[in-house]
Amino acid sequence: MKAKTDKPFNYKTNFVYTTQKAKETTHIDVELNVDNKFPILEIFADVHLAKEDIEIILKAMQRDISNRMPVNAKECVIFVTGGYSLSALTTFKIGGKAKSLCLVSTEDAISEAIEILKKCGTDYYIIGAGSNLLVSDKGFNGTIIYLGEYFSNIRLEGESTIIAQAGATLKDLTDFTLEKSLTGLEFAEGIPGSVGGSCVMNAGAYGGEMKDVIKEVRAMDSLGNIQVISSEEMDFGYRTSKAMKENLIITEVTFILAKGEKDIIKATMDELRQKREEKQPLDLPSAGSVFKRPEGHFAGKLIMDAGLAGYKVGGAMVSEKHCGFIVNHDNATCEDVLNLIEHIQNTVYKKFGVKLEREVRVLK
Ligand SMILES: Cc1cc2nc3c(=O)[nH]c(=O)nc-3n(C[C@H](O)[C@H](O)[C@H](O)COP(=O)(O)OP(=O)(O)OC[C@H]3O[C@@H](n4cnc5c(N)ncnc54)[C@H](O)[C@@H]3O)c2cc1C
Repeated sequence: MKAKTDKPFNYKTNFVYTTQKAKETTHIDVELNVDNKFPILEIFADVHLAKEDIEIILKAMQRDISNRMPVNAKECVIFVTGGYSLSALTTFKIGGKAKSLCLVSTEDAISEAIEILKKCGTDYYIIGAGSNLLVSDKGFNGTIIYLGEYFSNIRLEGESTIIAQAGATLKDLTDFTLEKSLTGLEFAEGIPGSVGGSCVMNAGAYGGEMKDVIKEVRAMDSLGNIQVISSEEMDFGYRTSKAMKENLIITEVTFILAKGEKDIIKATMDELRQKREEKQPLDLPSAGSVFKRPEGHFAGKLIMDAGLAGYKVGGAMVSEKHCGFIVNHDNATCEDVLNLIEHIQNTVYKKFGVKLEREVRVLK
């Protein structure tokens, strides 16, 4: 995106702001730097700013700058520095603060962000919906590149090809397939991930996996180069892929689906959603199944048979409803969860000789 002015355009302001939800009052500094390549917007605050707060701050800036420069999240690389709590970005609701959060809406913006971060010697990590992630209590001493609401376009191409940006949620994707009467992604109904995260993890349920419906993936390497990778080349396996092994950033996924009957698609989705509601502890924060399915067994059954249903370490507990889940039942820390994982692994190994491998990713 090009600035409306040909000359470098820099703008600084500061004001006192009260957050919408928590009603925390904070001093905010905002800096916008346009060097004719990509506008970089930095927001400094020492409290957690939610998306709605960022939108309000951008609107206020827009009024200030008037027509000289459009300031919206879709046209900038945004760094939010100071108070970004990662527990808010994960379904486990656990984790300290990141040094900063980076919001992007295009591949160019991701590449620009990576270049800046490398120049500053700052580590970065990609988060989608944060539904398979356990973050350290100390947080992350680097920048989180968040592919969420601003990177979530979904479009139909031809009759039955869907192209979705990595930050779109699987919920939005399955809603879209239902609306277009396309079949193939019903299994994903109720998986609370993003398109990118689910593709990296090759998420699956009820006999389906992402790899079954993916045609190709656009991904960025650490130099900012984009590759288009076919499903075969993605080397998908059980909860793994080439993108995971090579630390690629998935930006866009192309799905091949088939024309189906809307009523049948809806009935299948409803049935699978209901199954989840019956079997999973959806009322408490978690990251889903903590362990991969061991060859010839079910992790949840082994944990239950080991007598660990309801077992607690601090605020973390083995769910009594589904023993494969660890739930955050009372302000659990990352340490609580890791200690509980270790206890489960040791107990199951002693009783049944089966090694449980962690599926949940840990960010320290
Ligand atoms: C209640 C519940 C039920 C669940 N049920 C299932 C289930 O049935 N089947 C299943 O497979 N999983 C399930 N999960 C786990 C989780 O939803 C999936 O693993 C999902 O695919 C993770 O996607 P995400 O966007 O949340 O990834 P995140 O948690 O944000 O990230 C997971 C990993 O992927 C990386 N990543 C994320 N986005 C990108 C990207 N664009 N490019 C590169 N790397 C990226 C992250 O760096 C991290 O290493 C469940 C979780 C919960 C809480």
